[in-house]
Amino acid sequence: MDATVATLAERARAGELGRLGIMGGTFDPVHGGHLVCAEQAREALKLDAVVFIPTGRPAFKLDRPVTDGEERLEMLRAAMAGNDGFVVSALEVERPGVTYAVDTLRELRAALPEGTELVFITGADAALTLPRWHKSEDLSDLAAFGVATRPGYELDAAALADLSARGFDVRPFAVTGLDISSSDVRRRVSEGRTIRYLVPEPVRAMIEEKHLYREESDHGRLA
Ligand code: ATP
Ligand code: MG
Repeated sequence: MDATVATLAERARAGELGRLGIMGGTFDPVHGGHLVCAEQAREALKLDAVVFIPTGRPAFKLDRPVTDGEERLEMLRAAMAGNDGFVVSALEVERPGVTYAVDTLRELRAALPEGTELVFITGADAALTLPRWHKSEDLSDLAAFGVATRPGYELDAAALADLSARGFDVRPFAVTGLDISSSDVRRRVSEGRTIRYLVPEPVRAMIEEKHLYREESDHGRLA
């Protein structure tokens, strides 16, 4: 079993982890928008911890090369240093093939004691696509969905009602609006522009050191 998940299971058995947030994403790279979203989810949804799980091969992003999983993990670890409420898991990066959230949630369910509540956190953009996720009809039985506001994406009452009608336990919450995206960060790097303060400083340093995102083809489509 993944080491982080084993530790989470131990904490849950000790009664320290009743409700766990799961922040899925490509994190190519992790930026301020992700971190503020997860931190405010912790508060708004009363989560005992948030586990960031970067995708291996994301099902939705087969159109451009994704940065090596180890490098994305390394950036995440650097980004969350000092926050006891955050952990990162290599569970999806290490799973072969295309990554699906449904498999991850099943794996977490199997590892954690019964009664541990799982809340999958998504931004409004990702939440709108939920009905098209792999085995979408099974997802709603595995976790609740914390839906964060995100600048540029409107998740109105009708869209939320539609998700509820499909059986999803949706928990909308407001996040300080930060119009930051990984695509924009990548584009900026490829254009030689500044990304300081859009990503945590150790992440910026790592991007520079490892020469990530220098090629124009790296920024891909806005997704
Ligand atoms: P890309 O531009 O490559 O798609 P991204 O910035 O959208 O990158 P992802 O890794 O695709 O980042 O997103 C992971 C999760 O974080 C998604 O649920 C997404 O909605 C959410 N998220 C990303 N950026 C923000 C933001 N600025 N505010 C709120 N939620 C966000
Ligand atoms: Mg995205």
